[in-house]
Amino acid sequence: MAEPKKTAAKDVETAVAIGACVAKGCKTKPSRFSFCEEHYDQYKFGLIRKTGELVPDHEKKLEHYLSFKQKRGQRVA
Ligand SMILES: [Zn+2]
Repeated sequence: MAEPKKTAAKDVETAVAIGACVAKGCKTKPSRFSFCEEHYDQYKFGLIRKTGELVPDHEKKLEHYLSFKQKRGQRVA
Protein backbone atom coordinates (compact mmCIF):
# COMPACT_ATOMS: atom_id res chain seq x y z
CA MET A 1 0.00 0.00 0.00
CA ALA A 2 3.01 2.28 -0.35
CA GLU A 3 2.21 4.85 -2.92
CA PRO A 4 4.93 7.08 -4.21
CA LYS A 5 4.67 10.52 -2.72
CA LYS A 6 3.91 13.21 -5.15
CA THR A 7 4.92 16.79 -4.81
CA ALA A 8 1.97 17.95 -2.78
CA ALA A 9 3.70 21.16 -1.87
CA LYS A 10 3.59 22.22 -5.46
CA ASP A 11 -0.11 21.47 -5.59
CA VAL A 12 -0.66 23.74 -2.64
CA GLU A 13 1.19 26.53 -4.32
CA THR A 14 -0.90 26.01 -7.40
CA ALA A 15 -4.10 25.94 -5.37
CA VAL A 16 -3.19 29.13 -3.58
CA ALA A 17 -2.19 30.72 -6.84
CA ILE A 18 -5.55 30.02 -8.45
CA GLY A 19 -7.43 30.81 -5.24
CA ALA A 20 -8.74 27.33 -4.58
CA CYS A 21 -8.97 25.16 -1.48
CA VAL A 22 -5.64 23.39 -0.89
CA ALA A 23 -7.22 19.98 -0.33
CA LYS A 24 -6.44 17.58 -3.11
CA GLY A 25 -8.80 17.74 -6.02
CA CYS A 26 -10.92 20.44 -4.42
CA LYS A 27 -11.57 23.51 -6.49
CA THR A 28 -13.90 25.20 -4.06
CA LYS A 29 -13.07 28.73 -3.10
CA PRO A 30 -11.42 28.79 0.32
CA SER A 31 -13.25 30.62 3.05
CA ARG A 32 -10.96 29.94 6.01
CA PHE A 33 -7.19 29.86 5.82
CA SER A 34 -6.61 28.03 2.57
CA PHE A 35 -9.52 25.65 3.01
CA CYS A 36 -13.13 25.62 1.98
CA GLU A 37 -15.65 25.08 4.81
CA GLU A 38 -15.66 21.34 4.33
CA HIS A 39 -11.94 20.89 4.32
CA TYR A 40 -11.42 23.36 7.10
CA ASP A 41 -13.56 21.07 9.24
CA GLN A 42 -11.49 18.13 8.13
CA TYR A 43 -8.35 20.05 8.95
CA LYS A 44 -9.70 20.86 12.41
CA PHE A 45 -10.37 17.17 12.92
CA GLY A 46 -6.88 16.30 11.87
CA LEU A 47 -7.95 14.46 8.76
CA ILE A 48 -5.78 16.52 6.51
CA ARG A 49 -2.67 18.56 6.96
CA LYS A 50 -2.29 22.23 6.46
CA THR A 51 -0.98 21.37 3.03
CA GLY A 52 -4.16 19.51 2.14
CA GLU A 53 -2.49 16.12 2.34
CA LEU A 54 -4.31 13.26 3.99
CA VAL A 55 -2.88 12.08 7.29
CA PRO A 56 -1.76 8.42 7.51
CA ASP A 57 -4.78 7.33 9.57
CA HIS A 58 -7.20 9.40 7.56
CA GLU A 59 -9.70 6.59 7.06
CA LYS A 60 -10.08 5.95 10.76
CA LYS A 61 -10.50 9.62 11.51
CA LEU A 62 -12.91 10.04 8.66
CA GLU A 63 -15.37 7.74 10.41
CA HIS A 64 -15.29 9.88 13.52
CA TYR A 65 -15.60 12.97 11.46
CA LEU A 66 -18.61 11.73 9.53
CA SER A 67 -20.42 10.59 12.66
CA PHE A 68 -19.66 13.95 14.23
CA LYS A 69 -21.19 15.71 11.29
CA GLN A 70 -24.27 13.51 11.43
CA LYS A 71 -24.76 14.22 15.11
CA ARG A 72 -24.39 17.89 14.47
CA GLY A 73 -27.12 17.57 11.88
CA GLN A 74 -25.27 19.45 9.25
CA ARG A 75 -26.76 18.97 5.86
CA VAL A 76 -24.60 18.65 2.88
CA ALA A 77 -26.24 20.04 -0.18
ZN1 LIG B 1 -12.02 22.02 -0.14
